[in-house]
Amino acid sequence: MKYIVIFGPPGSGKGTQSDKIIEKYGFSHISTGEVLRTEISDNTPLGKKADTFIQNGQLVPDELIVDILASTLDKTKADTGVIFDGFPRTTPQAEALRTMLKKRGGDVNLMLSLEVEHQELISRLLKRGESSGRTDDNLETIEKRIAVYHEQTAPVIKFYEAEGTYCPIKGTGTVDEIFERIVKALG
Ligand code: AMP
Repeated sequence: MKYIVIFGPPGSGKGTQSDKIIEKYGFSHISTGEVLRTEISDNTPLGKKADTFIQNGQLVPDELIVDILASTLDKTKADTGVIFDGFPRTTPQAEALRTMLKKRGGDVNLMLSLEVEHQELISRLLKRGESSGRTDDNLETIEKRIAVYHEQTAPVIKFYEAEGTYCPIKGTGTVDEIFERIVKALG
């Protein structure tokens, strides 16, 4: 059983590459962003709480998201592997994930960190915003999300460096070129 974290700033291609990994390896996919958007469209109490944070480009508080992740993981069919997309986004979340996986006799095997420069992120997200319908894909919120990534999320790299599982991936080029790099890293 493999546990893979796909990591990177907003617009780095985590969702796109997750789809390709799932197709090739049959892993299950957990995207905390998608879980939150479903809660919002279902108008649940949790969705209502999360909505304000998301619209402001802020992270949902750790306690809330760790609970969501735990219950999503419980419901996820995991035979060959699980890919975590958009989680962890803070060091306490990375610690919580380690504890959760330890209980299942596992650990994060690989943390794939997609590297894309700032201007490219902005242009990708603005383009996505033309069709995504996401309330957070507008220039002001995009800039905020990238700043939050640098302040709160990038330190997670150090956590996985220390664990020996950090694997930087050049996140530019065609979707297939990037995926080839991931396949190599997955061995
Ligand atoms: P994403 O779809 O991964 O871009 O996530 C969209 C938004 O959901 C983020 O900007 C956050 O507001 C929220 N979110 C998703 N995952 C997390 C997480 N692990 N921790 C905190 N907030 C999250």
